[in-house]
Amino acid sequence: MSEEFSVSRRDFLKTSTAAGAGLAAGATSPTGGLGQAATSTARSKPLKVYIVTDMEGVHGIFNWEDQCQPFKSPRWTESQKLLTGEVNAAVEALFAGGATEVIVADLHDSGRSLSTETIDPRAQLLQGPDEGIPATLGLDSSYSALIFIGQHAMAGAKDGVISHSYGFEIQNIWVNNQIVGEIGARTMLAGYLEIPVIMLAGDAAACKELQELVPHAECAAVKTGFSRTGGISLSDQAAYSLIGEKARRAVERLPEFRPYKVSAPVELKVEFTVQGTPVYRQREGVERENDRVYVYRGKDLVDAWLRWGNF
Ligand SMILES: [Zn+2]
Repeated sequence: MSEEFSVSRRDFLKTSTAAGAGLAAGATSPTGGLGQAATSTARSKPLKVYIVTDMEGVHGIFNWEDQCQPFKSPRWTESQKLLTGEVNAAVEALFAGGATEVIVADLHDSGRSLSTETIDPRAQLLQGPDEGIPATLGLDSSYSALIFIGQHAMAGAKDGVISHSYGFEIQNIWVNNQIVGEIGARTMLAGYLEIPVIMLAGDAAACKELQELVPHAECAAVKTGFSRTGGISLSDQAAYSLIGEKARRAVERLPEFRPYKVSAPVELKVEFTVQGTPVYRQREGVERENDRVYVYRGKDLVDAWLRWGNF
């Protein structure tokens, strides 16, 4: 696992940065407007939404072995169906709320969970293993908003169902001393690219995690954990209608949201588990604090993060 990690990290370094250059391109400029009122300008502009998807936060999913391993878990086909249902409920609502384009990123375990055959025909699917897509997830400032579907909480989160941060070999991650998991990291990446995060569907712990960063984000808690491996879930139909309601409200409330900003320079600290610690190789901006804690420093969020891996 750690070997895999260091290989992909090197690849990311090769293909990295660039994305950061286009930063703030979407910002309003006095000359860019067409002389219309702010509201009508907003309505006539393309509204492109990026959906981060994962499996562990989907309703009805509590067991990683039985439900989350692509094509190995006995209940994998059911899991795909549940995630697809959640995605399609969100896509439907986003378009109803004013989205003009929706990209669904299949980000659970090497991008093999969704299919073009079954996603809403108006959406487009972003797929591929970690090394197949950019380290910054193909996000850029052409997107107006980001939402999470099927999202789990960070490693160690209280009652977070199948909680983890990227891999099970990671104990904790901090960005400038602020603890983050996938929700925090991707909210920060989106913010770096001037994209606000407006909604999340996942377990109650994941909802709480996003709302600590974006207090007024719309959240669909489709299940509530009693522990890391058990809890109560909504039924399919109830989950889909809750997601639809929240996604639609989120996109309608878009003008209220601001991108989440991290101050620069950035220090990323990763604490690995005993089994997960990668072999240390000396390189610029990377320091081994102790046996299990590595520090990655960069001029900004993306610069620091890409010294470690992908978002
Ligand atoms: Zn996952």
